[in-house]
Amino acid sequence: MNKRLTVKKSNCPQNHTCPAVKVCPVGALSQNLFDAPVIDQDKCIKCGKCANFCPKKALVLEQI
Ligand code: SF4
Repeated sequence: MNKRLTVKKSNCPQNHTCPAVKVCPVGALSQNLFDAPVIDQDKCIKCGKCANFCPKKALVLEQI
C-alpha cells in the first residue's frame, strides 16, 4: 500500500517555527519563515515521524 505525506494548512497556525522540520531524518521538510512546512516528496521516505510529532495534526500520512 502506498502512502503520501500531505500538509493540512488549515490545521497549522503558521505562527511559529515548525518543530517537525528537525524531526525528519532525511531533511524532507522545510519552512519559509512561519509558513506551513513544505514537503520534498522526492526525499520523503514516508516514515511518519513528523506526522506523529505535530501536535496540530497538520502533517498527515495518508494511504493512497
Ligand atoms: S514522513 Fe518521515 S521522511 Fe517524510 S517528511 Fe515526515 S519525517 Fe520526513
